[in-house]
Parts: sequence; C-alpha cells; structure tokens
Amino acid sequence: MVKICCIGAGYVGGPTMAVIALKCPSIEVAVVDISAPRIAAWNSDQLPIYEPGIDEIVKQCRGKNLFFSTAVEKHVSEADIIFVSVNTPTKTQGLGAGKAADLTYWESAARMIADVSKSNKIVVEKSTVPVKTAEAIEKILTHNSKGIKYQILSNPEFLAEGTAIEDLFSPDRVLIGGRETPDGQKATQALKEVYAHWVPEDRIIITNLWSAELSKLAANAFLAQRISSVNAMSALCEATGANISEVAHAVGKDTRIGPKFLNASVGFGGSCFQKDILNLVYICECNGLTEVANYWKQVIKVNDYQKNRFVNRVVSSMFNTVSGKKIAILGFAFKKDTGDTRETPAIDVCKGLLGDKAQLSIYDLQVTEDQIRRELSMKKFDWDHPIHLQLMSPAAVKEVSVVWDAYEATNGAHGICILTEWDEFKTLDYKKIFDNMQKPAFLFDGRNVVDVEKLREIGFIVYSIGKPLDA
Ligand code: NAD
Repeated sequence: MVKICCIGAGYVGGPTMAVIALKCPSIEVAVVDISAPRIAAWNSDQLPIYEPGIDEIVKQCRGKNLFFSTAVEKHVSEADIIFVSVNTPTKTQGLGAGKAADLTYWESAARMIADVSKSNKIVVEKSTVPVKTAEAIEKILTHNSKGIKYQILSNPEFLAEGTAIEDLFSPDRVLIGGRETPDGQKATQALKEVYAHWVPEDRIIITNLWSAELSKLAANAFLAQRISSVNAMSALCEATGANISEVAHAVGKDTRIGPKFLNASVGFGGSCFQKDILNLVYICECNGLTEVANYWKQVIKVNDYQKNRFVNRVVSSMFNTVSGKKIAILGFAFKKDTGDTRETPAIDVCKGLLGDKAQLSIYDLQVTEDQIRRELSMKKFDWDHPIHLQLMSPAAVKEVSVVWDAYEATNGAHGICILTEWDEFKTLDYKKIFDNMQKPAFLFDGRNVVDVEKLREIGFIVYSIGKPLDA
C-alpha cells in the first residue's frame, strides 16, 4: 500500500488529503501537524475549517485510510510520498521583510524529513513557494541525506476556499513540476498516478520544476490583477455615471476576456493574493526587473485604494463623521462560504471606521468573535500602507460588538456596510431592517449583492460599488 504523509493540516493540507483518501482507497493518507488543537479538531465533529462538503468526506474516510496525527516524525518516516503544505507567509523582519516569503516552516519541515527518513522519498511542494525553492530544499535534504535519495516535485494547489472540494473533485488542471532526470521522471509519474485515480489525463500538466513553482505565483497574480482592474474601473464608473455591472458584462462577453472574476468589490482578501504578489515583486526586484516589480505592486496599491475609497465614501456620505454612530458590518470573512479572515478587506474597513470613532456591530455567518477581535487588534506589516491601517488601540476595539443575527446588528444603526457576499444578505427583510434604523438610513454595499432600486424604494440611501450614486 502506497503511503502518503502531508505536513500541515490547514486549509490546503486538510481538504486535498481528504479528497486523495476518498478517491484512492488503496492509498493510506496521514495528515500531520505540530498544532495539537488543529489535529484534535480534525479528529472531532467540529472540523477546524468551514468548507462545504468536507465534513462528509472526513467522516467517510477518517480511521479507514485517512488519519490526522501529531506524530509528525513517525508518519514522515513511514511515507513514500511526503506533501509539504505548511504556511509560507510574508517575512515581517530582516532581508526582504514585507515582501519575501518566510520559508522558516518549510525549512524546518525539510530538516525534519532529512532527520527521520530511513528510505527514499518523494517530497512534494504543495505550499506556494518562490520560484527556485526546490533548489534550496534539495540542498537541505541532500546535504543531510545519510545515503537516502530524495526527489523534489512542485505540485502547487489551485483550490479556492469556499469551493475547495468542488475544485479538488474537478480541477481545471493539476500541475506537476519535476527534474528531467530518469529519477525525476519516475517521481513525476508516481504522483501523476495518484491524481489519475480521478483526474482526466489531459488535465494533468507536467512541466519543469521552475515553471510549476512560478505558475502558481503567476496564476494568483493574474487573478488579483483582474480584480484590481475591475475595481479601478468601478471608481471611474462612479465618477462618470457608468455602471460597473453593465461594463463588466459588456467586457466579459469578449471571448478573449471571458465573464469570470469580473465582480467589482471592496477589494480582494485571503491569505494568498497579496502575499504571493509581494513575493513575485521581491523575486522581480532580486532579478533587477524593477519595472516588472512596479507593475505587480500596482495591483496591491489599487486594492488598498479601493478599501480606503470605500471607507471615505461611508464617512463622507454620513455627513463627514461616523463618530459615535452605530454601523452594522454584515460579513467579515474574506469571501462567502468560508470562515477564513486572513487579510479580509473587512479588517481595513473596520479599522478605518473605528479610526473615525464609529461603533461597530459585526455579524458573520462563520467567523467567531475571537477571530474578529484578534484581527482588529493585530498589527499589520506596513509595506506601503496609510497610517490608519495600523494597530488599533484597545479602546477602539472596545467599540466593537459581535452579534449572531443580521437584524440585531442593524437594529438602531445609522448605516450598514456589506463586506462579504454571503447569500443570506440578498434575502434579508430590508423593510424590517429599515424600520428599525436611524434616519436617514445608509447602506453601503461592498459586494454588489443587494437590489439597489428596491432598497431606494424602501427609503435607504444606497451606495453600491461602481454603480450610479443616489441623486
Ligand atoms: P494554514 O496556515 O491553514 O496551514 C498550515 C499548517 O502547517 C498549520 O496548521 C501549521 O501548524 C502547520 N505547520 C507549520 N509548520 C509545520 C511543521 N514544521 N510541521 C507540521 N506542521 C506544520 O495554511 P494554508 O492556508 O493551508 O496554506 C498552506 C500553503 O498553501 C501556503 O503556502 C499557501 O500559500 C498555499 N495555498 C493556500 C491556499 C488557500 O486557499 N488557503 C490555496 C492554494 C495554496
């Protein structure tokens, strides 16, 4: 029986390994992590991440061919294929701080693999890493090898949170990069055979190591760039009376452009887009490609601009001050169908409003109060940010209440900000909400989910990203 071990039981390690276990009953899959609470949660009924469809798969496979464990060294030493899916955040200090990827977790995983391995291994980069990371990993492993042979593969993950299971069941592509030596090709083939259990052959792309590593950074940069492009247009729409939904529809009908990922919003978030673009910027700078670095930097600058623009719109619409006013925040997760709040635009919007002394009442379907308070009190690394995005004073964070109902959040509020596109926000009883709010009642839709005309008929003053403004 082939044995797989995945180091890192997070948003990627958990779902990817659960799907491999489901689709490959002949493979034994162990997911290991240094975080005991995370592993305990994977072994309980309350999984550590919210992801539609994952509970059923874990229930079906756990204890049969899927195991979650803190016995990292044991499972690594027994495995034939080791996926490494540890976090690779942006460095916060030292060389490259604020841009370069922090590979500390990766390096310690690689050193541990070298320490405990007693047989040849295939080591798979599942985390998103800078191009050429495999070279560094190879050095660490071979210089500590004790006669053991390692083959390094790059197999970046393209799943999106909220649709992870769907994406894993039916991926647009699976990318495997390996060395072009006979041993490298054998390793590539072994990993391809795992995916071939359910992924059609024409969706499995084989490349060299560096192309695979760089493709993941490139894909995230292209996706984020598309969001910043449509958001940049949304500002121009508001200035001219054009409607971003009509513009995006017309633009997306061009088959060379396509309709997906053209929704204007308060900005992108999540743990990947910003970190991966910063990483790309750093790699470009290290290679002397200043103009290319500046091009990609602009994608993040427009994203920050969009979040600031939204905050400014809220404050200026509400007679230039939100001091002491209750504002309901509907949605805190960085997108719908996830409880993940990493880099969510809600953090910067809430901090901006708290900076103007607003009182916030926050409601999200999946995010806990602890998460919200932690995110709002955390210092964010200042790569190029305006001052108000920095650490909130404990006093400011006290002006936040977290509630479990949209009606409670909006009760008595002067304004509402919709920051996540949860389906629930499309079907709320806005008449009831309006009746219980201060007047004039403002609604700022950062995700373009509400029917603007209907809400205006009820009496709301509505601002929706990139849409014509209220007269
Ligand atoms: P995560 O923070 O949710 O999970 C990483 C896990 O690795 C943590 O539980 C941590 O405790 C564990 N870990 C760290 N060092 C370890 C070690 N030495 N031994 C054992 N466990 C260790 O991160 P994530 O969101 O799953 O992302 C993982 C990687 O995948 C990142 O590089 C990310 O960029 C990439 N990625 C993420 C997504 C996404 O949507 N989240 C999508 C594609 C790729």
